[in-house]
Amino acid sequence: HHYSLHGKTVFITGASSGIGASCARFFADEGANLVLTARRVERLANLKNELATEYPEVKVHVAALDVVDRDAVFRTIAELPDQFKNVEVLVNNAGLSLGLEPMIETTPEDANTMLDTNVRGVFNVTQAIVPGMITRGAGHVITIGSVAGRQPYANGAMYCASKHVVEAMSHALTQELVKTPVRVTMVAPGMVETEFSVVRFHGDEGKAKAVYDGLDPLTPDDIADLVVFAATRPKHVQLNDMLVFPTAQA
Ligand code: NDP
Repeated sequence: HHYSLHGKTVFITGASSGIGASCARFFADEGANLVLTARRVERLANLKNELATEYPEVKVHVAALDVVDRDAVFRTIAELPDQFKNVEVLVNNAGLSLGLEPMIETTPEDANTMLDTNVRGVFNVTQAIVPGMITRGAGHVITIGSVAGRQPYANGAMYCASKHVVEAMSHALTQELVKTPVRVTMVAPGMVETEFSVVRFHGDEGKAKAVYDGLDPLTPDDIADLVVFAATRPKHVQLNDMLVFPTAQA
């Protein structure tokens, strides 16, 4: 009953690091072809090389893409090589948090970058890809939200705000697509050890590492495993919502 992704195309945003890069490896293991996007294209090229060794049968297309740049999003998707055009699974993963300080101290620049990336990014890519899924009669939109989309916390107001919006968009989309074969899934993780904290602390690796002290955090592979699980359920099964925490986080 397992839904096979063999030869299907999976489009991942933010595939250069963390959860997105793990998703690429896990989907490759299912035999899916991959469109890997992020701003740091050299990282994507390295990942493509790594996958070529381990999964020689898997086709990988790499594209530099800033999800905030709406024109670039539409252009990149319109210009996909023929064998990658029929995107069947979209993983809306690109996202970030900047700073961990009270809202009254958050810079408007950081606030805008979070809202632009996390909210507008998902909006842009979803709008560019989902119409094709509806036309072709197959598709799955999997969006990485966060526990921050459900439980606002002090010193994370604008990140939490952005992830609440992501959550709202995903659940509204689920309802809008109910009469289509396109599935929608929201995955909301607690703490995952990735470069997320390095980015949040503007490159301070010591501060980033300390976040996970004594926590035994989730790994990006833990999340990729759930994403692929959702995507490989039988077609009539829609896993709407997955909240996942490290066992030591409440
Ligand atoms: P990473 O920092 O390791 O990865 C983030 C990815 O997003 C990178 O590949 C980065 O690529 C990409 N990205 C950032 N901005 C843009 C942009 N403007 N356009 C395109 N790509 C962009 O962090 P994670 O893997 O942890 O984060 C992945 C998702 O998981 C995010 O949405 C995050 O909010 C969410 N999440 C993370 C948690 C955690 O604890 N780590 C917990 C809950 C949710 P590049 O810089 O090359 O563009």
